[in-house]
Parts: sequence; C-alpha cells; structure tokens
Amino acid sequence: MIYDSHVHTVLSCDADTTIAQAICAAENKGVGIVVTDHLDVEFPAPLPDFRLDVDRMFLEYSPLRSERVLLGVELGMTESSIGRCREIAASYPFDFVLGSVHVLDGREVDDALYADRDEAEVYREYLTEAARLVEAVDVDALAHIDYPLRTTSRELPFADYAAEFGALFAAMLRQNVCLELNTSRLADGAAYANLLAIYRAYLEAGGRYVTLGSDAHEPQEIADNFGAAAAFLTEAGLIPVHFCQRKMIIDK
Ligand SMILES: [Zn+2]
Ligand SMILES: [Zn+2]
Repeated sequence: MIYDSHVHTVLSCDADTTIAQAICAAENKGVGIVVTDHLDVEFPAPLPDFRLDVDRMFLEYSPLRSERVLLGVELGMTESSIGRCREIAASYPFDFVLGSVHVLDGREVDDALYADRDEAEVYREYLTEAARLVEAVDVDALAHIDYPLRTTSRELPFADYAAEFGALFAAMLRQNVCLELNTSRLADGAAYANLLAIYRAYLEAGGRYVTLGSDAHEPQEIADNFGAAAAFLTEAGLIPVHFCQRKMIIDK
C-alpha cells in the first residue's frame, strides 16, 4: 500500500478535516495515511497557532491508530528552537517526524517576504538553513523541499542552486533523513520538470527513498496527484516509503 505521509486535520489551525473524514477519504483512495499536524514551536506574530497539542492528538487519535492510520507530526524547525524540537521528537511515540522549514530569520516564507527580499536569495538561505536543521534535529524526513517556490513569481531552476541542494542532500544522507515528495505542485508542468531535476540530483547523491505527501488540508486533497507522483518516482528512479514507529518501511 502507498501512504500519504503528510495529512493535516482539525488539530492544525489551518485545516478543517476531521480524523473520520481523513480516514474515509484515504480508504476511498486506497492509501494509508500518516497524520502530521503542524507543530511550529516558533512562528512569527500575529500568531496563527501552529502549535499542535500533542497530548490531545494522542488522546483523541490513538484509538483510531492502525496499520492504515499512523500518527506523526509536522515539526516546523528554526535555529532557535532546535533544543525544543529535539525534545518534542524524542518525547512522544510518533510513527513519523516530518521536519519543515516555514520560517527564516523570524519571518514566514511566503509572498509577503518576497516583497522586500530577493526570491533567489531567500531560496538559497532556505536550502542552507534546511541543511543545518536536518543535522541538528532528529527527523525522519524533510517536507516540501520546494516550499519557497510555492509563492515565488516564477520557477527557480534547480541548476542555479545545485551547490545548495548538494550540501542539503549530503546532510540528509549523513543523518538518514528521507526526502519527501510533496505532491501539491506536481500538476504544474514546469514545477514537475524542475522537481525531477532536484530528485534526480538526490538519487545521484545517494538518496534512494522518498515519502509521498499531499499536504492535504481538506479531505478531498488526500493523495492528490499521487498518479503523477508514481510516474515521477519511476522517472526519477526512487522508491516510495513510509514510517511506522519511526522505522522506514518500503511501500508495496
Ligand atoms: Zn509545511
Ligand atoms: Zn503540511
């Protein structure tokens, strides 16, 4: 079974999906899910509270946990919250800890940031910061490597950032951190082609395994673009996996 290893529910402040709706949507699509609600220890004000109540998550969702419904977290990492991130990752019985970089220098990476920062410079800084953070925090996979490109004015080509990607992949492989294929941009042809160059470089660097994540915030988004993702992985020569009790399992 293939797993959607990046699914948000009502325990994320920006999602409305109930756990029952998520389970139902996943069954209809024939995939397993890993629930990964947002836990950004530090998020710039005004604060939408992206801090998952982990105790509540385990209390409410544990009875529903199964081979098809795994419990993880999307841990938003920042330089100044490394200690707290490490502590959270180690303190709960997560199936999967998905590391993210949403914030750079205390500012959210979004179109507002690009109003006064150069897109290329932000992207370079994002990749460099991600390399530092995957070495410092114990995560299983790195989410949406192309996150800054969701809101840039154009696709920034892999070739211009090959050195930064090389350093990031080296750091991930040293720490056994898997790469996520976030499927949210795969329907866009230019994004698909650019991502293919990135994931081929991951393969060349020695990477083999990829988690698939729709980043669904609505039930109908679960396993979105997974058909395209299957073709993508074949083209890239990579193998889909998921994590259970923080051990990597190859999807069959
Ligand atoms: Zn994210
Ligand atoms: Zn997410």
